[in-house]
Amino acid sequence: MSILIKDVLLDGKATSVYIEDDRISELGRKIEADTEIDGKKKALLPGLVNAHTHAAMTLLRSYADDMRLQEWLETRIWPAEKKLTREDIYVGTKLACLEMIKSGTTCFNDMYFHMDMAAKAVQEMGLRAVLCEGFIDRMDKDAGEEMLGPTRKITEKIAKMGSSRIKPAWGPHAIYTVSTDSLRTFRQLSDETGYPIHMHLSETRNEVDDCHKAFGKSPVSYLESVGFLTERCVFAHGVWLQSDEMHTLARRKAKVVHNPVSNMKLSVGKAMPYADLTKAGVRLSLGTDGAASNNNLDMFQTLKAAALLQKFAADDQTIASAKEIWDLGTLGGAKTLGLDAGVVREGGLADLILVDLTKVFMVPNHNLYSNLVYAASGDCVDTTICDGKILMTGRRVRGEDETIDEASKAAKNLARRVSDGQSR
Ligand SMILES: [Zn+2]
Repeated sequence: MSILIKDVLLDGKATSVYIEDDRISELGRKIEADTEIDGKKKALLPGLVNAHTHAAMTLLRSYADDMRLQEWLETRIWPAEKKLTREDIYVGTKLACLEMIKSGTTCFNDMYFHMDMAAKAVQEMGLRAVLCEGFIDRMDKDAGEEMLGPTRKITEKIAKMGSSRIKPAWGPHAIYTVSTDSLRTFRQLSDETGYPIHMHLSETRNEVDDCHKAFGKSPVSYLESVGFLTERCVFAHGVWLQSDEMHTLARRKAKVVHNPVSNMKLSVGKAMPYADLTKAGVRLSLGTDGAASNNNLDMFQTLKAAALLQKFAADDQTIASAKEIWDLGTLGGAKTLGLDAGVVREGGLADLILVDLTKVFMVPNHNLYSNLVYAASGDCVDTTICDGKILMTGRRVRGEDETIDEASKAAKNLARRVSDGQSR
């Protein structure tokens, strides 16, 4: 299978790109291919990488907003999540994949439940993903031991799919929901399998205060003391990290994912210390978080929010420049997930997007990266290619109407089951 993208703009110059199987095989030469794409008036860019999300939460989009965090979780989100079926996860993840394809994301790092069903959805939709079964033992190590079996089973099932696009990871939810013994087990499992560990860390001030109360240490010192930290750790949020914690993370080569929209919507109290983390040498990337706390998976909005939030928080217009933030959303994510993607180069994975330069917000085009970060939305993406396959062209995705219908029905049913359960 081969694709030729003709006369497309790459770094401001018109060129042709030849894709063979899953790789960019040649830049610059027009070679006859099975499929040709006209790249005129379009820019070729690497696909975006959403390094932290909960894809199937798309079914809870607009289900509950503008509430206090604890009340939102306890009275709305958790009761709804209890009613989610395996089929819901499949349908919700398909909707998420559709949204990501339509807004130029080619790979995502996902944590939720029934992840074998998420894997089935990703397999069908054609995206690349790292999937982990979220693990919560409510600080009870015996419960944790019991739950580990099913978690391992699902993880092995995902691994056994043998997909080049879908990789498993371990997903201990957070330090306040997972016991120390279970955390140690996950570190061991990660050592044995080589799979990454995807976890939430230092999202709220409460979480940090509780950690000091329970363990007499900061969250990162606690994780270091139990031997948890490795280069395979991918931590979402990191909002409340202190300087010594950042240096520990850098030394252990652990990664941190910035989720600016979710952080602002859930008002976590301050901005992730982007400049300090960068200076400490921590590998950073960007994520949307789930659709209940964002409420979309459009990485273009996340790019803009990241740049604006960091400038605002630092009272400095010069930090988090457009190009820097664009790289964070592409190459930063690819490096975080260990992918040979995130840049357009010969031999690299063909995870690519074509951006329509005739969209009104892309005109004029004095600086492409400024337009992408400050002016664009996901609507600017005309074509999405993942693993050398065209997933969207001319903004149409195969089967998109059915995916939307199925998800609307599943969400309606879910809301009805929750309210039936509560009125009983
Ligand atoms: Zn999250």
